[in-house]
Amino acid sequence: MVGSSTSFAVPKAQQNPNPSGGPRVAVLLPLPLAGAYDYRTPEGLTPAPGDFVTVPLGQRMMTGVVWDRSCSSEDLAEERLKPIAIVHDAIAMREPVRRLVDWIAAYTLSPPGAVLRMAMGPSDALDPEEGRAGFAAAPDLPLPDVKDRRLTATRRRVLDVFGGTEALPAALLAQEAGCTAGVIRAMADAGLLVERRLPARPPRPVPDWRLPFPRFSDDQADAAAVIVEAVRARRYETILLDGVTGSGKTEVYFKAIAAALEAGRQVLVLLPEIALGAQWHRRFEQQFGAPAAAWHSDLRPAERRGVWRDVGEGRAMVVVGARSALFLPFTDLGLIVVDEEHDASFKQEEGVIYHARDMAVVRASLEAVPIVLASATPSLESLVNAERGRYRRLVLPARHGGAELPKVTLVDLRDDKPERQRFVAPSLVEALKQTLGAGEQAMLFLNRRGYAPLTLCRTCGHRMQCPNCTAWLVEHRFMGRLICHHCGHAARMPDICPACEDKHSFAPCGPGVERLAEEMTERFPDARIAVMASDTLIGPQAVADLVARVQEHEIDLLIGTQIMAKGHHFPMLTLVGVIDGDLGLGGGDLRAGERTFQMLHQVAGRAGRAERPGRVLLQTFDPGHPVMTALAAHDRDRFLALEADERRSRRMPPFGRLAALIISAPDADQADQTAAALARAAPHLKGVDVLGPAPAPLAVLRGRHRRRFLVKTDRQVNIQAVLRQWLAGVRTSTAVRIQVDVDPYSFL
Ligand code: ADP
Ligand code: ZN
Repeated sequence: MVGSSTSFAVPKAQQNPNPSGGPRVAVLLPLPLAGAYDYRTPEGLTPAPGDFVTVPLGQRMMTGVVWDRSCSSEDLAEERLKPIAIVHDAIAMREPVRRLVDWIAAYTLSPPGAVLRMAMGPSDALDPEEGRAGFAAAPDLPLPDVKDRRLTATRRRVLDVFGGTEALPAALLAQEAGCTAGVIRAMADAGLLVERRLPARPPRPVPDWRLPFPRFSDDQADAAAVIVEAVRARRYETILLDGVTGSGKTEVYFKAIAAALEAGRQVLVLLPEIALGAQWHRRFEQQFGAPAAAWHSDLRPAERRGVWRDVGEGRAMVVVGARSALFLPFTDLGLIVVDEEHDASFKQEEGVIYHARDMAVVRASLEAVPIVLASATPSLESLVNAERGRYRRLVLPARHGGAELPKVTLVDLRDDKPERQRFVAPSLVEALKQTLGAGEQAMLFLNRRGYAPLTLCRTCGHRMQCPNCTAWLVEHRFMGRLICHHCGHAARMPDICPACEDKHSFAPCGPGVERLAEEMTERFPDARIAVMASDTLIGPQAVADLVARVQEHEIDLLIGTQIMAKGHHFPMLTLVGVIDGDLGLGGGDLRAGERTFQMLHQVAGRAGRAERPGRVLLQTFDPGHPVMTALAAHDRDRFLALEADERRSRRMPPFGRLAALIISAPDADQADQTAAALARAAPHLKGVDVLGPAPAPLAVLRGRHRRRFLVKTDRQVNIQAVLRQWLAGVRTSTAVRIQVDVDPYSFL
């Protein structure tokens, strides 16, 4: 997000980075400013680029990082510079990470400080706690002594923070108990707390690269040898590991991880969603005899801090994480792996809008290490990069052990019609009967959370819409709520229609996974049915538990959204039914076909991964669509060739460049005025097309009115320069926000 008052200028690069020890030092702060600010080095301090420092900014103190360049205050006289207050004795931000921050800022047109904020780690990671003073509850405390007058409610909360007798730092105690540091001190004075040294962080078990691997097939061995060689040579190279599901991609990159560990180097593995993590972690531990460190948004603050520091001190050797793991402070990185590289969730859509896969490639090149992009359905971008010789493509053509790919049958919903108010076609019902009857497992895929995507008044046709967004409210029957999937707005189902005031007139339209579960429970009352969706399973543990139950065959029929499509390996699962194959194909999404193909291919890949052959029934109204025919024929490459032709002829990515501008404002007029001003200033350059402004498909989101431009350029055009120049010429009011989305994946 770029505030409209912020200039889009990125600091100009200096040929020679500012040497350390000079009287003037540039400090980048984690704020959306145009660049680093200069500060004065106080006597006796010699901060070097990468050091964390605390400096005065206006009335407050703020922690940032010494940067190698300055811009905004270059003209400021020496004596007017403010001095650095603290140089932290923490892990410094290494040069490759600083360059990554600059790179992402320039590429995404974000203020460098906004990118820095993602790279600075948890705020409490700066000061080591081990061996320092902390507090423990006094051992002879008469607990719980309600009559003890020294025990106010606040003090009791502090004591409750201690799980056992373990010592905790004062700041953490105060934070967890929601009190001031003064309370902690007073409690120590009153003898309720005693001072203790904080325990050292427990050592992390080191993954063992010497444990035996399975015997590789020739293809697997060849692929592994290429990656291992690049790891050993410490050479930047992007390797696209392209192999059908079950072909051993994970085994192959595990081998490369072993090579990095053998060389004493760290490894970063990016997975698209933490939901995938549980099985991955189990497999990793089986192979390496020790767990990998996990990095994701669900970590508790202490864990977060621990992982951050362990990575920075070289104690955590393998880290697996979501997008933000990209910024971890590895001291000696030897390999990066991006698994399921085609997955759109690598694109961060809020704040700094960036693609973690692409930026991981940048980090690999800055660190001079190889990066493996693994997928059974690589993105067109990566395949074209391989064709152009920028990436090296390694192919694993066969499933391990000769397991067959599942047979995919298209169910033509125009002929094979479900009953009224039902969503499963007779042929799929029949297949489910057979599968469940044979004691095997089945899965139904529908990428729609909730009970019904639309709720309609039968009397007057009124539809329940979100008050903040251009979107229908989705009924979630488990929760008894109507929910907006865009802003989270939740409401009770009204008894009376707000339009015609008829009573109990609302009817659900269309299926969500909950409604599908209801239909299946009626059909198969004895089957053990479970629903898997991001709102019914909160957190990685809940997902892991359900996955384990499916693997233990405690579930017969699994009904889920895309969170179950990925990665999981269910040996007894022999039937996959896709309820609405056409769902992702509508709308103006550039990658609608590609993404639908990838997702359905991945779903299909869940069937028959072990000895038992699997089959897939795919319900569609459009069995002639190239996506459907390609899925049925297992002909990914023909589909991709068609898709590539289509994009080439329209000069769309990866054959041209694309960026979106999203203008949003609290009222429609402001949004329109800014859009009009931008339209007047739009560039007229060769090889540059500006489309729009147009109301965004989500014309109102969270109460803000949205207008969109799309900028399409030839591949040779520096699209960032075009955007920068364009935006610099337009002034807007502070209520208006302009988001820049380079390489957009969302067109809403
Ligand atoms: P992918 O990552 O391509 O989906 P995996 O690495 O998960 O494939 O392999 C699929 C299954 O086959 C896994 O259970 C894996 O352990 C097994 N497997 C793959 N290659 C071999 C091999 N060479 N020997 C024994 N088992 C293998
Ligand atoms: Zn909403």
